[in-house]
Amino acid sequence: MTDFNQIPLRPDLKGQVPYGAPQINVPVALNVNENTFGIPEVVALEIIQRLAAEVIGLNRYPDREFMQLRGKLADYLGFGLAPEQLWAANGSNEILLQAFQAFGGPSSSAISFGPTYSMYPNIARISLTPYEEFEREADFELSADYVAEKIRDSNPGIVLLCSPNNPTGTPISLAVIEAAYQAFDGILIVDEAYAEFSAEESALSLLSGRPRLMISRTMSKAFAFAGARVGYVAADATAIDALRIVRLPYHLSSLTQAAALAALSFSELLLENVAQIKGQRDRIIQQVTKMGLRAFRSDSNFVLVEGFQDSNEVFEKLLERGVLIRNVGIPNTLRFTAGTESETTKLLAELAIMLD
Ligand SMILES: *Cc1c(COP(=O)(O)O)cnc(C)c1O
Repeated sequence: MTDFNQIPLRPDLKGQVPYGAPQINVPVALNVNENTFGIPEVVALEIIQRLAAEVIGLNRYPDREFMQLRGKLADYLGFGLAPEQLWAANGSNEILLQAFQAFGGPSSSAISFGPTYSMYPNIARISLTPYEEFEREADFELSADYVAEKIRDSNPGIVLLCSPNNPTGTPISLAVIEAAYQAFDGILIVDEAYAEFSAEESALSLLSGRPRLMISRTMSKAFAFAGARVGYVAADATAIDALRIVRLPYHLSSLTQAAALAALSFSELLLENVAQIKGQRDRIIQQVTKMGLRAFRSDSNFVLVEGFQDSNEVFEKLLERGVLIRNVGIPNTLRFTAGTESETTKLLAELAIMLD
């Protein structure tokens, strides 16, 4: 077989591998922080109806500016946001890529605080943006002083703060975000993919008067819409306009727009399971602590647990028992997504047997 050395691949991409959380068909999949509750039938029917209405017009390009969807996203978020302050793409990963294309690049730079979302370095690399990760403080927490100091010292073009943070679950307080914003002149991106699970106030409350602040969200997690690929961002209208320069034309298909509008029309129903999921998260924390393991503080729909002698062995054994979880590469830890009550029961039971 031909390999990368025989084709003119960008030198900086040689030796790199694609993003690849395992996709394995198992009864209990708690590995990529999806909402494991399915789409309610009434929502499914609404989606189908709206898709059906679009199909006949698929010979035409979709609405490039999708103002209707941006308006509904603004309504959903509240805070008096205008449609011009919203933007959407195929997952918040694409939002982040567009932000890096607009504000990053070889003459800029980006930083974050690790361990954090594994796609940040990938997105930086794809957009040719130099990227550095500073270590988090004890227990993966972040304080305003520490964050501001690292930002001032490195003076990057982009700062990424993930709150609650994946894979640790740690939320970031508004005080930290305010301090980060003040510490430099670049773009501050707060990744709130798990905001609906968090008790912390959203950084959306800080948007007014902060034109360099961008808050990215997704329908992939709390909304149970990962397969539809809908991410979005709220920011000052000028920052949104910058994303419009780098986006590919017609990037959001009319089917995606219709499906997202249908889901948003049922946002309350779709978010009904959030309380239940948070209950299962807290149950995981409680039960693994009883098993002598250590759970890190989580304000999300997953828990990072420490205390495994051999994380990979536990991963493999759980997989044999039909439970897929995530080894994120932090020594002696594993990450568990909170699922339904019965999925959580299965996970905890298998863990208990294994550690006995
Ligand atoms: C899951 C996740 C996303 C969402 O990705 P999508 O592309 O919207 O599915 C973004 N950021 C973090 C930290 C995540 O964990």
